[in-house]
Amino acid sequence: MATLIVNPKQLYGYEQLQKDLAKLETTYQGLLSTQIIGKSVDHRNIYAVKLGNGKSEIFLNGAHHAREWLTTSLLMNMIDVYCKAYVEEESIGEFDVRNILDNTTIWFVPMVNPDGVELVQKGHENAKNPEFLLELNDGQRDFSSWKANIRGVDLNRQYPADWGNIADDVGQPAPMMFKGNSPLSEPETKAVYEFTLAHDFKLAVAYHSSGEELFWKYNATGQLLKTARKLADKIVEKTGYDLVFPGDNPSGGGYTDWFIDSLKRPAFTPEISPLVGPRPVPLSNYDKIWQDNKEIGLLLAAEIGKKYVT
Ligand SMILES: [Zn+2]
Repeated sequence: MATLIVNPKQLYGYEQLQKDLAKLETTYQGLLSTQIIGKSVDHRNIYAVKLGNGKSEIFLNGAHHAREWLTTSLLMNMIDVYCKAYVEEESIGEFDVRNILDNTTIWFVPMVNPDGVELVQKGHENAKNPEFLLELNDGQRDFSSWKANIRGVDLNRQYPADWGNIADDVGQPAPMMFKGNSPLSEPETKAVYEFTLAHDFKLAVAYHSSGEELFWKYNATGQLLKTARKLADKIVEKTGYDLVFPGDNPSGGGYTDWFIDSLKRPAFTPEISPLVGPRPVPLSNYDKIWQDNKEIGLLLAAEIGKKYVT
C-alpha cells in the first residue's frame, strides 16, 4: 500500500515542494520524473513533473501569481493521489487512472513563481534585493497580497498574446499588474514558454485563485471555440465554476491567452476558491477546492483521447 506523500493543508512553499518532489520521484520511479526547466530571478528552480508514459501530452501549471500558492498545493495533491491510484490500480470517480496515464502523459509545473511564493510566505528579508521590494510595497512588511515575481512583473501579463494592448498596465514594477518592459522579459515566463513550445500539448490549464470562475474562451473561433466550450462544460460539471464570457476584445498576456491564440488549442484558467480578496486563499477552503478539482487532470487527459479534440 502506498501512502500519500503530499500534505496540501499547510503553508506550502518552495522547500516543501522540493522535498515532496524528491520523495515522489523515488517512490514512483518509472511513472513520475522531474526536471528543471529554468531558474527564477533569485535562482530558484522551476520544476516540471512528468506523470505517466502516454504518447499524448497535456500540461497543468500553478502559482504564476505569488499569493495564489494554494494552486501549487492542489497540483501536488493531484500528482500524489494519481500516482497512488496508478500503482494500486484504482479508479478516481469514473476515471481508470492506469488506463488514462498509459495513454496520456500529464505534465505539471506546480510553482511557476517560486520567488514570489517565498516572498508572500516569508517576507522580503531572504530575497536578493530586499530594499527594492520594501520600496515597491510602500514600506509595508506584509507581502501577503503580492502577485508579481520578485522584480515586480506580473507573470500572467507577460505572454505574447496581444501584449501591446493589455488593459490597466501600471507602467513600472509593482506588486501586481505590471506587464514588464517586453513580453517574456522574465526568466519564469520564458522558461514556461519554451517548455511549452518544446512539447506537443493538446491542451493546457493554468490554475489561479480566486472566484470560482473558468476562463476558457479568449479569442477562440470556429472548431477551436466549439471544442473549448465542450471541455469547459465538462470542467464546470465537476467544479460548478462560472464560465467567463470576455466580450470582443479581451485583454491578453496571460498564459492560456497565448496558448489558445498561438497554438490554436484549448486552454483553461480555473480560479479556485470563492472570492477571498487580495490575499492567499485560507486553508479552510481547501477541502472544497480539492473536491471540485481532484478529477480535472484525469478528466482532461481522458478527453484528449476522444476524437473531437485535435
Ligand atoms: Zn492569478
